[in-house]
Amino acid sequence: MTEKFDVVVVGAGAAGLFCAGLAGQRGLKVLLLDHSEKVAEKIRISGGGRCNFTNRDTTPANFVGENPHFCRSALSRYTPQDFIALLQRYNIAFHEKHKGQLFCDRSAEDVINMLLAECDAGGVTRWQPCHVSGIKHAASLYGTSAGSYQIESDRGLIETPQLVIATGGLSIPKIGATDFGYRIAKQFGLRLVEPRAGLVPLTFDGEAWAPYAQLSGLALPVLIETGSPDASPKQRKKAVVFAEDLLFTHRGLSGPAVLQISSFWRDGQPVRINLAPGVDLSTLLMRAKASSRKLIANELAALVPSRLADAWASSDPAWQKPVSEATDKALNTLADRLADWQLTPNGTEGYKKAEVTLGGVDARDLSSQTMESKQPGLYFIGEVVDVTGWLGGYNFQWAWASGHACAEALTAK
Ligand code: FAD
Repeated sequence: MTEKFDVVVVGAGAAGLFCAGLAGQRGLKVLLLDHSEKVAEKIRISGGGRCNFTNRDTTPANFVGENPHFCRSALSRYTPQDFIALLQRYNIAFHEKHKGQLFCDRSAEDVINMLLAECDAGGVTRWQPCHVSGIKHAASLYGTSAGSYQIESDRGLIETPQLVIATGGLSIPKIGATDFGYRIAKQFGLRLVEPRAGLVPLTFDGEAWAPYAQLSGLALPVLIETGSPDASPKQRKKAVVFAEDLLFTHRGLSGPAVLQISSFWRDGQPVRINLAPGVDLSTLLMRAKASSRKLIANELAALVPSRLADAWASSDPAWQKPVSEATDKALNTLADRLADWQLTPNGTEGYKKAEVTLGGVDARDLSSQTMESKQPGLYFIGEVVDVTGWLGGYNFQWAWASGHACAEALTAK
């Protein structure tokens, strides 16, 4: 028997749950299906279990994609304030942690339960686990243009005129991420922007990294940017710079600063890090040279974390001496290297560790108003689309905003 629905949403993550609930509440008969047993696993593990569900200061500038204007319309029609109002209706307590980032006081489960309650309020049918083995469009079957989608699943055949793909990106395959959305896009002739891991730690060649591996666990505030050392002042002015914490690991660099810059980093490019932002190292070291007999490492330890000072000073014989005996050139070089540490990652920790997937369904083949693709009745929302937020609640805001734009369009038909 074929089951018929007004809308089928594939993927019960952030975007799918939100969109399904809204569409159901607007009177549509909605089926939401997911191949995982549990819904919204990424919400559950997000924000260290407290879900950084939005960012108060969201603007289109906080997103990366080949078409930077695409996210504008959806974001302006469903704002962080709208989502906050929804949370308040459910009496979910939250707090601001850092730079506009809002987290649940209690648990990410509060957001999941709210989204499930919204689906229940809309009479949404949920099937999990449910595996889709194929999707056909009736127009391609019978040569008609009105068409409907026929979805073959392990729970039987499903038919719908409106199909929403909300299957997210490739990050964290062990909790259910697949390339399903990209395959469907390709099947219907839509373009893809090559997916790659984003918001992910960067790794370095083992030998080159050996001197810094001992710093594993050290965190410090830095300025970080991508870009070639040969970049012109004009190019450097345009570079995206993040002021966040950096974390040294055994294999490379992590922490918010590195996760942020990883979404801008390209293979073979260096990253540039100021390890002592706001400190005039050169002047302070010169002053120390005139008045102190301490080792350079000890002088440096007053300006940057002592583990970093020790590791740095021991990396060059010219810095392994009392500051009073160092040459001006050696001290200036030391100051310059700390303020503009340039190093080229050999890769990233990949999808196993990435918080998001950059790239995805090409925005040129989607309507920014409705999220409908060039293939009539086929929509893409959330992370599967080539819109990727910075770290800090922006990715969920995109899931809500794109889900909302889609739900409005579904009900308008
Ligand atoms: P998802 O939430 O990934 O949902 C996709 C759903 O589709 C899943 O339920 C999956 O099981 C299902 N699916 C996949 N393939 C199939 C298939 N073949 N058939 C059926 N179903 C399928 N963003 C923030 O804004 N704030 C945070 O605090 C934050 N923390 C994060 C922490 C971690 C560790 C990770 C990995 C990500 C974090 N993110 C955060 C990013 C955020 O979780 C995602 O951007 C967001 O969940 C994307 O929503 P989505 O609905 O598009 O996709």
